[in-house]
Amino acid sequence: MKERNSQNGYVSIDAVDRHVIRRISDFESKEMQRILIIEDEKEMALGLKDLLELEGYEATTAETGKEGLQALSRKAPDCIILDLMLPDMSGYQVCEQIRQKADTPILMLTAKGQDHDKILGFKAGADDYLTKPFSVGELLARVMALLRRSSQFAPDKDLIRVGPNLVDVKHFTVRRGKKERSMSYYEVELFKLLYARANQPVTRDEILDKVWGTEKYPTNRTVDNFIVKLRKKIEEDYRSPRHILTIYGVGYKLSP
Ligand code: CA
Repeated sequence: MKERNSQNGYVSIDAVDRHVIRRISDFESKEMQRILIIEDEKEMALGLKDLLELEGYEATTAETGKEGLQALSRKAPDCIILDLMLPDMSGYQVCEQIRQKADTPILMLTAKGQDHDKILGFKAGADDYLTKPFSVGELLARVMALLRRSSQFAPDKDLIRVGPNLVDVKHFTVRRGKKERSMSYYEVELFKLLYARANQPVTRDEILDKVWGTEKYPTNRTVDNFIVKLRKKIEEDYRSPRHILTIYGVGYKLSP
């Protein structure tokens, strides 16, 4: 790996970074996620591109805000690294324009001394920020955290991670380690509803309404029975659940 040590570039990779990178890499499955880098400083942009490609990402660069927005509409990236200082427009403006069309996670880069502008960055819709100069380990950790967060809560994803399980809502299966079990239609629908509202309680009435809808016979008992079925597939011990939680007097909550 190339080590760079420019004034406003990132610093060289130290032992801690290497450790962080290796540890995170072991965890992540690389399915060629795309990252767009909007940065006018050539050395920085190319350095980041090299680094992300080495880590198994597909990276593209844009030198101006306008170019970045064009790149975005050509091919939707999974994450955007956006520099605050660009020649044609500010990172805030770019951020606001991106937010009008996409929820893509944005990591904003600011230079030292611009720290007070972070609030503006968040207001413009940035998800995280990093102050230059930064270490490559930190950058990678932030990017990966953003990618993980967005894939976890994106409702259109077929594969959803809940604790050690991987739920495939398209193929009606749940996998833990090497063990794969099938799920029924109602189990998947119930799971999808809880997942869409992850970390918030969903009432039994709402579950009945949205999952069973106009069906004639379901009762609150039906919901409870299906919760038990789901727990048996997702929880390590369904009698002391850690992911599908009962909110007494209200309903249930999924904690992925
Ligand atoms: Ca810049």
